[in-house]
Amino acid sequence: MPFEYAPAPESRAVVDLRPSYGLFVDGEFTAGSGTFTTVNPATEEVLAEVAEAGPADVDRAVAAARRAFGPWSALPARERGKYLFRIARILQERSRELAVLESLDNGKPIRESRDVDIPLAAAYFFYYAGWADKLGYAGLGPDPRPLGVAGQVIPWNFPLLMLSWKIAPALATGNTVVLKPAETTPLTALLFAEICRQADLPPGVVNIVTGAGATGQALVSHPGIDKIAFTGSTEVGKQIARSVAGTSKKVTLELGGKAANIVFDDAPMDQAVEGIVNGIFFNQGHVCCAGSRLLVQESAYDEVLERLKRRLGTLRLGDPLDKNTDVGAINSAAQLDRIRELSDAGDAEGAERWSPPCALPDRGFWFPPTVFTGVTQAHRIAREEVFGPVLSVLTFRTPAEAVEKANNTPYGLSAGVWSDKGSRALWTASKLRAGVVWQNTFNRFDPASPFGGFKESGYGREGGRHGLEAYLDV
Ligand code: NAP
Ligand code: MG
Repeated sequence: MPFEYAPAPESRAVVDLRPSYGLFVDGEFTAGSGTFTTVNPATEEVLAEVAEAGPADVDRAVAAARRAFGPWSALPARERGKYLFRIARILQERSRELAVLESLDNGKPIRESRDVDIPLAAAYFFYYAGWADKLGYAGLGPDPRPLGVAGQVIPWNFPLLMLSWKIAPALATGNTVVLKPAETTPLTALLFAEICRQADLPPGVVNIVTGAGATGQALVSHPGIDKIAFTGSTEVGKQIARSVAGTSKKVTLELGGKAANIVFDDAPMDQAVEGIVNGIFFNQGHVCCAGSRLLVQESAYDEVLERLKRRLGTLRLGDPLDKNTDVGAINSAAQLDRIRELSDAGDAEGAERWSPPCALPDRGFWFPPTVFTGVTQAHRIAREEVFGPVLSVLTFRTPAEAVEKANNTPYGLSAGVWSDKGSRALWTASKLRAGVVWQNTFNRFDPASPFGGFKESGYGREGGRHGLEAYLDV
């Protein structure tokens, strides 16, 4: 019997939540053309009112970034690097505050925002700070030049981390930015704006425009930007690709995924089960590279399923601010509807649904960890991105069949291979059409490692030396 845990809530007192927030343009907080609210998805409590940027506000932000570009790109590179180091250190100093705010606005467990999101965000700034004065040695020519003003649009699943993936390489290479966070998770980006002021970053180098899809559209279609960096859905990515056709804007797109997590019968089973759980239930499955399709070798199927179900019975779902929580809230009512719709399609198409016994809170947006077995490649839950805590289990007999099934998707962002035999894992990895392949681990990130997709998962790479190229005229 699992023992009872005492509640271990992280204090909200470290966060100074203001009733309303403005746009961050040219180093100042200003009003927008309207307002919207952001809620805590675990309770539906309104956290704050946030300014909505209309086209005129986006225009002001782009103009500020353009004015700042000349002096910023002319700074000696090591001076630019100092600002990035300073920002990285402030992110570390204020990490508890950022983690609590992220969990409040997004619904993710504090354990994850505290141990993954915020430390990694700081790590990306440290990493690109180091590159700032070494661009001539990046293999991109002796003197690569910045592009100008970058328009950046990010999703709600890793708000501050996605911001750092965008802003750190852009600034290190001498560009200035206008960034739009997602409508449901604007608060850590606005705290980051404050951090830019604390670091004395020159006004206009970073601008944050909050709003919904229309604000993002106004930004990416603005004629004054030189580069678009977008992370989000494949559908919106396609719209953006169409809208920039014929312009000189450079574009990188980080889109959806439907990763295969392949478990061979010689896999280290304890680690594999942890990896399956981490692959799909980390961040409630709101992960573009989530291991949402489990491919198990038939000879190991019974063992894997039995261990997996036992492990899922120990996951704790509930208050994201409780340090014991493993599974937090679904980010929005809209996302919950989508998860329910696709799961219902799984039932209707004949797959078998299983969830551990798990009480859901009365208020807020919640979905239990869910496993579908008897899934075929034709089922919607095997083809479409659920972006929630829903695992589809398929089986295979031979390595060749595993590869064929793994690659049978329009996406190609990530994959996992579990096997004790190095040659088998390497053979499999070399056949997988995916930007990242993890062996005997999953969902591991490092600023030095490039990340990005094949096929409909997008193009361009973020992270590592490769991530510099997206912001340089080479
Ligand atoms: P989304 O609807 O595409 O939204 C992403 C961002 O784009 C949000 O800031 C959104 O604003 C904005 N946006 C919406 N319509 C726009 C338009 N027409 N023009 C410009 N911007 C627009 O995606 P989502 O559903 O929020 O995010 C989940 C998706 O992101 C999943 O498919 C996931 O796989 C993908 N993702 C990919 C990666 C990666 O690195 N490859 C990482 C994380 C997530 P609002 O939110 O305010 O509507
Ligand atoms: Mg929110």
